[in-house]
Parts: sequence; C-alpha cells; structure tokens
Amino acid sequence: MSLMNTDLHSSLKKYFGFSKFKGLQEGVIQNILNDNDTFVIMPTGGGKSLCYQLPAIMKEGTAIVVSPLIALMKNQVDAIRGISEQHGIAHVLNSSLTKTEVKQVKEDITNGVTKLLYVAPESLTKEENVEFLKNVKLSFVAVDEAHCISEWGHDFRPEYRNLRGIINRLGDNIPIIGLTATATPKVQEDIIKNLGMTDAKVFKASFNRPNLFYEVRPKTKDVDADIIRFVKQNQGKSGIIYCLSRKRVEELAQVLQVNGVSAVPYHAGFDAKTRSKYQDMFLMEEVDVVVATIAFGMGIDKPDVRFVIHHDIPKSIESYYQETGRAGRDGGEGHCLAYYAYKDVEKLEKFMSGKPVAEQEIGNALLQEIVAYAETSISRRKFILHYFGEDFDEENGEGADMDDNSRNPKPKEEAKEDVVK
Ligand code: ADP
Ligand code: MG
Repeated sequence: MSLMNTDLHSSLKKYFGFSKFKGLQEGVIQNILNDNDTFVIMPTGGGKSLCYQLPAIMKEGTAIVVSPLIALMKNQVDAIRGISEQHGIAHVLNSSLTKTEVKQVKEDITNGVTKLLYVAPESLTKEENVEFLKNVKLSFVAVDEAHCISEWGHDFRPEYRNLRGIINRLGDNIPIIGLTATATPKVQEDIIKNLGMTDAKVFKASFNRPNLFYEVRPKTKDVDADIIRFVKQNQGKSGIIYCLSRKRVEELAQVLQVNGVSAVPYHAGFDAKTRSKYQDMFLMEEVDVVVATIAFGMGIDKPDVRFVIHHDIPKSIESYYQETGRAGRDGGEGHCLAYYAYKDVEKLEKFMSGKPVAEQEIGNALLQEIVAYAETSISRRKFILHYFGEDFDEENGEGADMDDNSRNPKPKEEAKEDVVK
C-alpha cells in the first residue's frame, strides 16, 4: 500500500486534528504502510505513538501494541477513543478484564473494528491469547518502549525477550515496529537482535535539546546552601530537585521551606493520596519546587519546568538525560545543574554489590560514563550526544555555548587530556 502524501495529511488531520507531521513521523508512517520492519528512536515527547497509531487506523486488520505499563496503555486507549469517537477502535487486553469484557474485545477484533490492541508482554504470551490472535487479521506488531528488551536499558523486562517467538506464531511476515527513546548504540543492537529485525529501516531523531543549559558543580558540604542560593535566584520559577534517598528528599525539602522557598517532597514512601497532593501542588504552581526521588517524573508533563537539579549524581547518562529532559519542554530556558562528588559514586557502587555479577558489571560500566561526564572539560552537550551515537559540532551546533565548559573553557593544557572516548 502506497499512499499519496495528501492522503496521509488528510488522515492526520481527520483522526488526530494535527495539520503537520512532527519530525520523522511521515517517513516512519510511510514505511509502516509499505509493510516494512521499522525501528524508531526518538526522544520522549517526540511523538512516537502516532507513528503506529495512524497506520494502524489506516490499515486493514488489528495492530498489536506491546507496552510495559497498564497505566500508559489506558491513557492511550482513552485518547484514541476520544479523537475517533468510536468505541471499539482501541482496546487493552489484560488479566483485569471480566469474561464479558474479553468477549467484547474479541468480537470487535474479529469484526475488524479494533485497529489497536494494547497488550502487556505477559498477556501476549498467554496461550489462549496466542490461539485467538493467530486466527485474526493482524496489520503489524508495534513494540513500544522496546529498550525493555535490553539489560543495558534502564528498564529491563525479561518477558520482552520472548516477543519474537510469539510474533512468529501469530503469522508469517507480520511487520514489526520497535520504538524507544533510548539512543545508546548497545541498547539498539540488543533490540534489533532480539526482535530479529536486521532488515528494519532505522529512523533516528536528534537527541539534542538546544535550550537546555548543562552545568556540573563540585559537591561540597555547603551543597544545601548553594542550592538555596540557586533557587532563590530563580524565585517564582518551577524546578525539580532530585535526590538519591527518601531521607535526603525530606531533609532538603524542609531546609528549603525553613529558608522561605515553597517546596514539597515527593517519593514512593508516601501513600498515593499524599503523592498526588504534592504532585498537584507542583503542577498547579502552588509551590515552586518539588524535591524528589526518581519516582517523580514519569508521565509528568509540565512544559515550563525551568530547572532540574541533581543533588546526587544519577546512575547513568541515560537517566540524567531523561531526568533533565523534563526541563524546558516548552522550548524556553531550562537549567540542568548536577552536583558531583566521587564519594557519591562509591555509594552507588555499594548499592549494586548485592546484585548478580552480570548486572553489577553493566551498572559499573554505566557509572563510569556518568563519572566521565561529570569530570569532562569538553562541551557537555557534545559528550551527551556522543554517548547517544550522535555527532555534535561544538563550534556551530545548536546550543553550542549552552554549558559550563563551553562558556568557560578550561586552560588548554588541562583540557587536552580530556577527550571523548
Ligand atoms: P513519545 O511516545 O515519543 O514520548 P508521544 O507519542 O507521547 O511521544 O507524543 C508526545 C506529544 O506530541 C503528544 O502530546 C502528542 O499528542 C503530540 N504530537 C504527536 N504528533 C504530533 C503532531 N504531528 N503534531 C502535533 N503534536 C503531535
Ligand atoms: Mg511513548
């Protein structure tokens, strides 16, 4: 099936209300419509969902969307139903459905109404579901958050490893679409190998965020005072401060409050009600600052977060990129400040010591990269993008002077020893 671009645009308008494709979307969709395997690597917020939703709606049959989180799937299904005003067009198939609901879902699929079927990998591997899906018309399988396949990713899920075998049982030559926001070459290799998609066309968007300013400061015993000063200089602006431990989150939130900064704490140790209260206070701008563990942020879409501070260095460059990525979503200013002391790295190493050896090795390798980032004297943007396999021109690239090292270069002699590995 090959479509004129005008048809694609009118479908985009009709089903999603958008008048333009974002980034690489159009090429991706064209490739999927042509029944080719497709690998999409785009940063969070890049618009990956539409890459499979639109062709799913346009193609005959049902597209299976594998996704790791039930909450994510529910959101997407509600959104799709909202725009299409058609009930059966998207469904979630999971173990929480009643028998009657399962029957309805299956009926809609059999009747060709359902264009998108969201499943968690553990539901897809269930024998009764495989038996059912094998006998219906499928358009393609989209594997969202495909990095879950890789131990080098930040969210490894062993069930993702079984997907290829299951997809083979569902039919011959069912096209596969893998999607992820993880840009590291290692994770990408794992995905391609595991999903058996060596012939896939790869679409990779740039991970450069030119409006973000990157800075690393040495962490001393005065770190709290330094943070207070920073926040006060940015009064009235929204910011997130990440700490490693729940205890530190609570302490720092209190120190800020005592010093007249409106701040709330957030971590997974609070009950759901308290968490959503604090989250809402931040989103509604009743407070400027949220001090949080990494439990805060998934799915938070506040466009005008003006700074992200890391009180403790995170466990990988990838985590750092994801967490700082919550700043400046609206394209405006976003200051990303990390405090770094080597003894914090040793703390992170200690955390891992109880884990299986293979996991420790990976964890340590990732840690060494973030150490190198913290200690580098080259452009931090260049360093991050290089880690993601992307070249960056530190003289003329977009955002070239948007980091501490580029603004204040170290003396030549010192800097020379510091090259990107
Ligand atoms: P990702 O999965 O890559 O993180 P999403 O699929 O959640 O990103 O999309 C992020 C946002 O971009 C959503 O709010 C979505 O509605 C919006 N979006 C996607 N495509 C377009 C487009 N062509 N025009 C305008 N907004 C878009
Ligand atoms: Mg997504």
